[in-house]
Amino acid sequence: MTDYVYDFARGGRGMAELLGNKGANLAEMTRLGLPVPRGFTITTEACRVFLSSGEPPPELERQIAEHVSALERAAGKRLGQADDPLLLSVRSGARVSMPGMMETILDIGLNDYSVLGLAKSSERERFAWDSYRRLVQMFGGTVMGLDNSLFEETLTRIEEQHHVPDDSRLDVCDLIRTVESFKDLIAERSGLEFPQSPAEQLRQAVLAVFASWNGERARLYRRRERIPDDLGTAVTVQTMVFGNLGRDSGSGVAFTRDPATGRTGVYGDYLPSAQGEDVVSGVRNAVPLQELAALDPTSFGRLQEYLARLESHYHDLCDVEFTIERGRLWMLQTRVGKRTARAAFTIASDMADEGLITHRQALSRVDGEQLTRLMFPRFDAAGTADVVARGVPASPGAAVGAVVFDSAEAVRRADAGEKVVLVRNETTADDLPGMIAAEAVLTTRGGKTSHAAVVARGMGKVCVCGAEDMIVDVRARCLVVDGLTVGEGSVVSVDGSEGSVRLGAVPLVESQVVRYFDSGAPPDAAAQDLVRHVHRLMQQADAARRLEVRANADTPQDAARARRFGAEGIGLCRTEHMFLGDRRRLVEDMILAEGDAERDAALAALLPLQRADFTGILEAMDELPVTIRLLDPPLHEFLPDRTDLAVRVARRDAVGDPPDEHDSALLAAVSRMHERNPMLGLRGVRLGLVVPGLFAMQVRAIAEAVVERLRAGGTPRAEIMVPLVDTVEELRLVREEAERVLAAVSEEAGVVVACPVGTMIELPRAALTAGRIAREAAFFSFGTNDLTQTTWGFSRDDVEAAFFSAYLQKGVFPASPFETVDREGVGRLVRIAVTEGRAVRPELELGVCGEHGGDPASVHFFHEVGLDYVSCSPFRVPIARLEAGRAAV
Ligand code: ADP
Ligand code: MG
Ligand code: MG
Repeated sequence: MTDYVYDFARGGRGMAELLGNKGANLAEMTRLGLPVPRGFTITTEACRVFLSSGEPPPELERQIAEHVSALERAAGKRLGQADDPLLLSVRSGARVSMPGMMETILDIGLNDYSVLGLAKSSERERFAWDSYRRLVQMFGGTVMGLDNSLFEETLTRIEEQHHVPDDSRLDVCDLIRTVESFKDLIAERSGLEFPQSPAEQLRQAVLAVFASWNGERARLYRRRERIPDDLGTAVTVQTMVFGNLGRDSGSGVAFTRDPATGRTGVYGDYLPSAQGEDVVSGVRNAVPLQELAALDPTSFGRLQEYLARLESHYHDLCDVEFTIERGRLWMLQTRVGKRTARAAFTIASDMADEGLITHRQALSRVDGEQLTRLMFPRFDAAGTADVVARGVPASPGAAVGAVVFDSAEAVRRADAGEKVVLVRNETTADDLPGMIAAEAVLTTRGGKTSHAAVVARGMGKVCVCGAEDMIVDVRARCLVVDGLTVGEGSVVSVDGSEGSVRLGAVPLVESQVVRYFDSGAPPDAAAQDLVRHVHRLMQQADAARRLEVRANADTPQDAARARRFGAEGIGLCRTEHMFLGDRRRLVEDMILAEGDAERDAALAALLPLQRADFTGILEAMDELPVTIRLLDPPLHEFLPDRTDLAVRVARRDAVGDPPDEHDSALLAAVSRMHERNPMLGLRGVRLGLVVPGLFAMQVRAIAEAVVERLRAGGTPRAEIMVPLVDTVEELRLVREEAERVLAAVSEEAGVVVACPVGTMIELPRAALTAGRIAREAAFFSFGTNDLTQTTWGFSRDDVEAAFFSAYLQKGVFPASPFETVDREGVGRLVRIAVTEGRAVRPELELGVCGEHGGDPASVHFFHEVGLDYVSCSPFRVPIARLEAGRAAV
C-alpha cells in the first residue's frame, strides 16, 4: 500500500521530490530539533493521481484522518473541539519553489462553535472572530471559487455602516455580522454552505491546493521558468500558531546573511502582532529584524541560534519564516535562499574562508550566468527612478532609449542617431529590423522562449518580456503603466538582468568587475569586497580547470583586451575583417584580375597590409598561440550589392552617360559569382583551391610577420587554420602549398619559420572522417556554429527569428542549439572526431571556436569530451574560465 502521507518526523531534505521543498525542509528542521509546529505532508504523488484522474487516491482520506488523530493526541486538543480547538494550516509546496503561485489556507477547524472555544482559550474574542472571518473568506475564495472582490465589497459596506476606516477597527459584533454575511454570500453564490465540519474543511482544502497546481497563475509561472507541468504539488498540513495575539507575538522572515549583498549577519523583517501572511503581503510596514532584539531578546537570541544551526547544517544561505506566539518562537519554513549574483560570489568566498565549505565547493556555488550579470553595465543605484513595470528578465544588460511602437519607426529614429526601445505586445519576424535598430526590446506578453526573447538573446540585445503591468496601444502610440501614459519618444530605462522598466534616463555605470579585469584598476570602495571575492574564485577556477581558454579576436586591440581578461591565446583570428574598408578596392582588383599577372599584382598589394595586421596581433599575444584562419567567406561578400550595382549601371545607361567600366566589370563578376546558397558554396578551403595565390599570399603574410616578430626579439606562435574542410585531400593540397611558402620565407629570411597547419572541423563529413584528416592536421578546431548549421540543416542567419520560439515553446529542444551545443547530435560528431583524430595522432591539439566556447553548459561538454581549449569572444573569457573550473571540480 502506498504511503501518501508523511509525518514531519519521517521526512527529510532529500525528499523534496515527494514532499515538496517546503515539506521536506519542515521535516528536516523537525529532525534537527528546531521548534516546528507539528504536522504532516501529503505527497506530490497523491497530487499527480488527483490531477490525472480527477479523484484523490482512495486510501488518502483514511491516511489523513490517522495523521490528524496523531496531531490531536500530541496537542491534547481536537479539531473542532468546542472549548479549545486544534487549528490547522493547509500549505502548498512543489519540488521547486513557486513563491505565491499556489494557495495556502489558514485556520482550518474554525466553525460556529469552535470560534467560541478559541475566544475563550485565547482570552481574545476579537482575535477569534477575526480568524474565523479570514477563514470563511479564504475558504470561500480559494476552495469554493468565489471572486474575492465579493468579500471585499461586503466588508467595505460593513465598515462604512460603522464609519470605520478599515477592518482592524471593527468590533466583535461587527465581525460576527461579517462572518454571517460571508456565509450568506457563499450560500447565495455557490448554492453550498460553508462547511461546518472541520474534517470536511480539511478535505476540500487539500483538494483545492492540488487543483491550484493547474491554476492559471501557476501554469504561467511554470511556462516562464521552464518548470515541468507534471511535478504536482505536495500539501503540508500543520498546527496553527498565532503571531497576532498581542504585543508579545509577531511574525517575520529572516536570512542567515544578506541575500542582496551577501554580507554576514542575520537579516530580515519583523512585524509585531501579525500573522505570517501579513509580512509577505506587506499590508503593514515591518521593522528591521534587529529591532526584535529589543522587543523580545529571548526569541531573538533563539532565532539567531537557529539560523546559525541551519546555515551550518545546509552549508549555505538559508531563509526562514517564523512566528512568535506569546513569547514562544516557532519556525514555519526554511530553504536554501535565493540571492543576487553579487551575494552569490560574496557568500561562496566567505563561506570557504569560514571553513563551512571547501574552496572547490565555493566554485560550484557560483556560475557563469551570475558572472555575466556582474559584467554588464548597470543602472546607477543612486539615481534610480522607481520601477514602473516588471517582466521576465529575458536578455541581460541595461539600456536607455526612446519608446517606439513599431519596427519602421525604430529603424527611422535609429538611422537618425536616436537610441530607441522597441515596445510591442509580442514580436514576430516582421519586427526584426526594429529589433536590430533598438537598444532594447520590451514586450507585454511571452516569456523566456518568446520570439522577442530568443532573438534578442541571439543578438545580445537587452530584453524584458511579459511585462503584463503595461498596456500597449500600438494605434494610439502610447503605453499605459502605473497610471501614467507614456507616448512615443518618451525615454525609458530597461534592465534586462532584473526584468524591470523605469521611466526617464537612468544613468549607466560601468561594471566594476569588468573595470578590474580590464585594467586591474582598484575598484570603488563600495565594490572592493565584491571584486576581491570574484578575483579569488577566478583564481580557484584557474587552478582547477583543465581546459585552456583562448579568445576569438581579429585586431591587436581585441587581442590585448582578451589577454587582460585572461585569454591564453587566440583560438580564432578571422582574416575577412582585414579585407574590408579601404582595402575593398584591392580585393575587387584581385577578383576582377584578368590573367595571373594582374592577380599577382593585386595580391602583392594586399600582402604588406596583411603582414602588418598579423604582426600587431602576434605582438599583443607574444608567447601565446595565435590561430589564424585563412579566408573563409564567399568572395562576393567583399563586392558591392548586386542590385545596387545593377541600378547604378542602368541609371547611367538611361541618361545616356557612357558606362562606368569598373562598375560594369563588377556587375558581371557579381552576377557570375552569385550563389543561391552561399553558406554552402564557394568559400573556405574551396576558395583556397580555386583562387590561385590567395592562400599562398595569406600564408606568406603570416610567415613574414613571424619573421618580423622574431627579429624584434619576440616569441610569435602563429598557427595556420584551414576552414570548411570536407575531405583530407583538400587539407593535404593546402598544407603542401603552405609548407612550400613557409620554406621559401625561411630561406629568404635565414630563420626557421615553423607554423603548425591544422583545420576546422565544421562539416559533418569532416567529423566522420576525422581519422583521415588527422594525418594532415596538426590541430582540430571545432567550428560549432557551422557544424550546428550543417548537422541540423538550419540556416543560422534565418531560423532563430523564423521559428525557434515556436520550437522552444513546443519543447522540440530546450535551448537553441546555436546557444548551447546539442550534445546528442552535434556533440556526437565532436566525440567521434576527438576519438578518431587522437587515435591517429595522439598529440593532436583540440579546441573549439564559435559561440559555444563561451556558453556555460557547452563549456562543461567540451571539458567532458577532452578538448584542450575553448575559444570565445574576449568579453566571455572570464565566464569560460569560471565554467571550465567548475567543470573540473
Ligand atoms: P507561500 O509558499 O506562499 O509562502 P506558505 O505556505 O508559506 O505560503 O504560507 C503563507 C503564510 O502563512 C506564510 O506567511 C506562513 O508563515 C503562514 N503560515 C503557514 N502555516 C502556518 C501555521 N501553521 N501557523 C502560522 N502561520 C502559518
Ligand atoms: Mg512561505
Ligand atoms: Mg565556419
